[in-house]
Amino acid sequence: MIDDTGQNEDRLFAQLAAESQILWINPALSTSHDVTAYKKDIADARRRLHNAHYHLQRSFPGTRALSKVVESPLFSAEDLAKCWDIPRWLVKADHCLPIAGSIKARGGFNEVLAFAESVATENGLPPPSSGMPNYTHPDARRLFSHYSVVVGSTGNLGLSIGMIASSLGFRTAVHMSRDAKSWKKDLLREKGVEVIEHAGDYSVAVEQGRESAKSDPKCHFVDDEHSVNLFAGYGAAAAELASQLEQLQVVVDDDHPLFVYVPCGVGGAPGGITYGLKALFGRNVHCFWAEPSASPCMLLQLLSGVHRPVSVYEIGLDNVTEADGLAVGRASPFVAPLMADLVSGIYTANDGQMLDMMLSVRETESMQVEPSAAISFFGPLFLTASDAGRRYCRVQGIGRTFRHATHVSWTTGGSLVPVAEWGPLYERAKAFRGQAKALANGWNR
Ligand SMILES: *Cc1c(COP(=O)(O)O)cnc(C)c1O
Repeated sequence: MIDDTGQNEDRLFAQLAAESQILWINPALSTSHDVTAYKKDIADARRRLHNAHYHLQRSFPGTRALSKVVESPLFSAEDLAKCWDIPRWLVKADHCLPIAGSIKARGGFNEVLAFAESVATENGLPPPSSGMPNYTHPDARRLFSHYSVVVGSTGNLGLSIGMIASSLGFRTAVHMSRDAKSWKKDLLREKGVEVIEHAGDYSVAVEQGRESAKSDPKCHFVDDEHSVNLFAGYGAAAAELASQLEQLQVVVDDDHPLFVYVPCGVGGAPGGITYGLKALFGRNVHCFWAEPSASPCMLLQLLSGVHRPVSVYEIGLDNVTEADGLAVGRASPFVAPLMADLVSGIYTANDGQMLDMMLSVRETESMQVEPSAAISFFGPLFLTASDAGRRYCRVQGIGRTFRHATHVSWTTGGSLVPVAEWGPLYERAKAFRGQAKALANGWNR
């Protein structure tokens, strides 16, 4: 079947099953969006993350020199831009986020802080007033020791939830999927977090976590597949990016489109960011998501229609990838329908291409990012070099204005990776040297 953008759906399914690298353009993308439903949740998340400053600096002394703890820099990737001939290319560096070392700091901290606020309020502590969170009350810690927080994760969400929940005094358990790296589990155990290891994938870890929390009314399960507070925490990043663009005097309007590329696992992080950006920039922001060819769960879900949940196993994929943060077989049933007309498109890349890109980003920009984050750098290349990308720009009326576009790659994780891990990772990556360039050249044919 041929869709409204001229794409052959049967061919796309076949390409997905064959792990080909594709750029899918969303035929249901709308030019007017209703992005009001979660506006208040996102505003609350901004306030909450801002007001957590004092607690975070006290609990994590390494952050005391920072003026803002849950905020990441916006870098200009000039050398990379020159290398790939992209006019203006920026990096939203969530791999630098302190404490959790990944984008999960945004969603995870918001979720746990919201739970802490409500437990404190329910137990008679004063409600959170402006600037003074009630979870810093002298009685709060003892109170929280009777409550627990549980989460299922491929690694980074567990790290984020474990760090913040244990800092507040909650008993904390993290159910880790087979993908989780040992150093992430070790770090959590050092913090007194209980780590439960599963031989199954992300969905299994989430299910086990959900099951274990069910019978205990004092246990909060962080539901990565349905949580509004995770989504809203990610969404709060949109206003942060907007103010950083303004500081750099980057204009976003009809003549200056903004393209943002975000890696996608279950969908919460790219979903929240896209929702937040659409609320601020409307049709002038174009949000593209990136998935590993072995785990393109959101692309498969949106292609199949959002009414029936599908998993990548159904089309014969194994959901095994170096991009551990994105190793998810089934998309969030909460986020997928919300995004059906907001996301511009989704592209895929395989492990070799991600690893080579990771090398290339280190060599040109001296940035150390996880393979999950490196995939965001393929965005501008897909858009400029592939037929689908060029067609998207034509259909959107972005012809001459493309020269004035700003591209933002969202680097979602990396700064906590131990030194001893990078060596072997870069060694492995060298076997794939040239694959990123070969992918970009391949689109030209
Ligand atoms: C979790 C994660 C993502 C994607 O977030 P989802 O909410 O799962 O879509 C991207 N990159 C990294 C490094 C992550 O840990």
